Amino acid sequence: MIGAGAIGLGTAWHLAQQGHDVSLYDPRLNQSVDREGSAKDLSGTSASLGVLMGYVFRRRSGRGWRLRRRSMELWPQWIEMLQAHQPDLKLHPGLLQIARDEQAAERMESLAAQRVDLGLQMVNNADLATVWPTASHGGLHSRHDGRIDPLLLQQALRKALAEQNAELNATAVVHLERNDNHWRVHHTDGNSSIHDCVVLCTALNSDVLLEPLGQVRPMTPVLGQALSLRLTTGPTTWSNWPSVLVNQGFNLIPTAPGRLLLGATVEPGDRASEDPLTLMRNLNERAPEWLCSATVVGNWSGLRARPMDRPAPLLEELEPGLILASGHYRNGVLLTPGTAEWVTTAVEQA
Ligand SMILES: Cc1cc2nc3c(=O)[nH]c(=O)nc-3n(C[C@H](O)[C@H](O)[C@H](O)COP(=O)(O)OP(=O)(O)OC[C@H]3O[C@@H](n4cnc5c(N)ncnc54)[C@H](O)[C@@H]3O)c2cc1C
Repeated sequence: MIGAGAIGLGTAWHLAQQGHDVSLYDPRLNQSVDREGSAKDLSGTSASLGVLMGYVFRRRSGRGWRLRRRSMELWPQWIEMLQAHQPDLKLHPGLLQIARDEQAAERMESLAAQRVDLGLQMVNNADLATVWPTASHGGLHSRHDGRIDPLLLQQALRKALAEQNAELNATAVVHLERNDNHWRVHHTDGNSSIHDCVVLCTALNSDVLLEPLGQVRPMTPVLGQALSLRLTTGPTTWSNWPSVLVNQGFNLIPTAPGRLLLGATVEPGDRASEDPLTLMRNLNERAPEWLCSATVVGNWSGLRARPMDRPAPLLEELEPGLILASGHYRNGVLLTPGTAEWVTTAVEQA
């Protein structure tokens, strides 16, 4: 396994649980999982907000929907098992999407009607009054979608892997070499190791390892930013709030009384500028006053790996024993359990 973000850690853990011998490589494994110092180069997973938008996915068929549905089915079991390693890890349920206009409301109504059994329900303006008074077209509430803390998740998975006797190597992989029916994995420290199967979970860095093998899967970085806010006015408790409120692609996540996180996909490319902070705080000028006047107590950014010319994520066996599980773009945390299951099946069939 190469790469120890949510995808690599989750997949390694699932493989180890199924009895496979797992070695995991990532130079970040000797760093603690935190966001101390906003200048720190964060992995996609550490930058993420951990929002699970599974059942509100608009498509009704295809791989994307199947992966989401399966991941959402698996998350409660995963959390229950991982709590043994990190008791603070929780699935915070409840996600509310505010309808932007009449068309969006109609789409939401049709989805809610089809997914009553999956916990979707329309909410009218009157019911939203205490939470988001500017809502004028209602919203869609999803009982089982929600959020997990991606830092606690990584801490739990690292501990779970250590207990499974998986080999955790804090080193980068620089080169892959086919060696008869095996793979020779070359590390930065000059050593190498032999494995039956290699699983690449290296997000944006995947192409560096794939290109010399004649496999090209280009990805483009898409910046994501998050703000940690302290309110000076407005709601003091979040008693009527869901775990995640989504408005115009912005996620609002209450974390403590008077505190919340705000995040969005803000711009293509890989550089954070000052502007997005203003944009995010004003929510395209539809933000309530208490949000505009909140104090920013922290902010960070990270890169999402978006596959070029192919749908995200990239789940493929590229050659016998060479598996790619990468390019999860905006939903890598959400899709971790479904990805882990897919890779395990691929490994067992390889
Ligand atoms: C601001 C922001 C908010 C987001 N919010 C959400 C959200 O709410 N919900 C959601 O589901 N997703 C969200 N995402 C997307 C999500 O973070 C990613 O899809 C997910 O983290 C991808 O996980 P990963 O394990 O593939 O990649 P990463 O977490 O980036 O991990 C890749 C790892 O590979 C390692 N690596 C790279 N090259 C090598 C090498 N040569 N050798 C060894 N190791 C290597 C890196 O060190 C890194 O640790 C967000 C992303 C951002 C930036």
